[in-house]
Amino acid sequence: MKEALLGKTLEQITDLITQIGMRRFVGAQLTDWIYKKRVSSFDELTNLSKQNKELLANSCQIGRYSYCDSALSVDGTQKYLFETPRGNKIESVYIPSETSKTLCISSQSGCKMGCRFCMTARLGFLESLSATDIINQVLSVDQSEQLTNIVFMGMGEPLDNVDEVLRSCEILTAAWGLAWSPTRITVSTIGVYDSLQKILDNSKVNIAVSLHTPFADERLKLMPSENKNPIVQTIELLKKYDFSHQRRVSFEYIMFEGVNDTERHIKGLVDMLKPIRGCRVNLIRFHQIPDSPLKGSSDTRIKEFNTALNKSGVTTTTRNSRGEDIFAACGMLAAKRS
Ligand code: SF4
Repeated sequence: MKEALLGKTLEQITDLITQIGMRRFVGAQLTDWIYKKRVSSFDELTNLSKQNKELLANSCQIGRYSYCDSALSVDGTQKYLFETPRGNKIESVYIPSETSKTLCISSQSGCKMGCRFCMTARLGFLESLSATDIINQVLSVDQSEQLTNIVFMGMGEPLDNVDEVLRSCEILTAAWGLAWSPTRITVSTIGVYDSLQKILDNSKVNIAVSLHTPFADERLKLMPSENKNPIVQTIELLKKYDFSHQRRVSFEYIMFEGVNDTERHIKGLVDMLKPIRGCRVNLIRFHQIPDSPLKGSSDTRIKEFNTALNKSGVTTTTRNSRGEDIFAACGMLAAKRS
């Protein structure tokens, strides 16, 4: 298959085109066409000579591809299904609100992490996406030009694919790329130590840690990856960074009835998170998935939990459920046609 230019940095594109006999300055023209003007074919490059277009077309492609299906929720959320060039399915979810227009994107098809509350886990692992596949989601949804936020919270564990995720973040934030502020991008993770350190040191994007309980033995039952990626290590790492200014760290907490919603859990969370300055907790309603013994906490309990954490000095909000009717809500992505 011809090399895709989408998903490459300015430096990578410049190196590639000089190898096929083109001048270096064309690299900047190409990133402008691909990331700013958002072209999908070489025919659209009006400032390139016929000879350069032929050179490009012989060995490269832009790399854009369209979604193959989409579903619209009653609440305005829209789920997109893409098929990667290797034939695997991935999903992206557009989530509009009064204040933001967020796109939740995938970093892998399927996932290795096996979280008990997640439909994606049941697919097993199919492939890690390239930066081409990741940026293509951002450019190919219908609302692409209106987006205000991007969250890597779709299918897959982003830090199990850290190099492509980091490259995607570079393309999203670079002046020659989409020129987004890193404060509008959030990478979610179960906490993969070395990769988390890499992304903390090499980008300025926000981090969201999937926590779901402050107790390691209980977390292991919900998230088998706790074995390899202990939450205490993640917390110790995060304590070394400052999240009280532009960059944010948040902790995602799906509320399960009788499992992680007791007073003991409130105390455990306060003890664990208070030392991390500027952090916040997002409580999430659990969306029932088939054949799972887990049940979501009641709205009353979520409210009480939320209030108790805030009173104890841990900034906490409850995230509204979106797109449940089209299986687009948190934990429901299974890459099926609607
Ligand atoms: S919740 Fe995230 S990390 Fe866990 S299995 Fe699902 S996609 Fe993977």
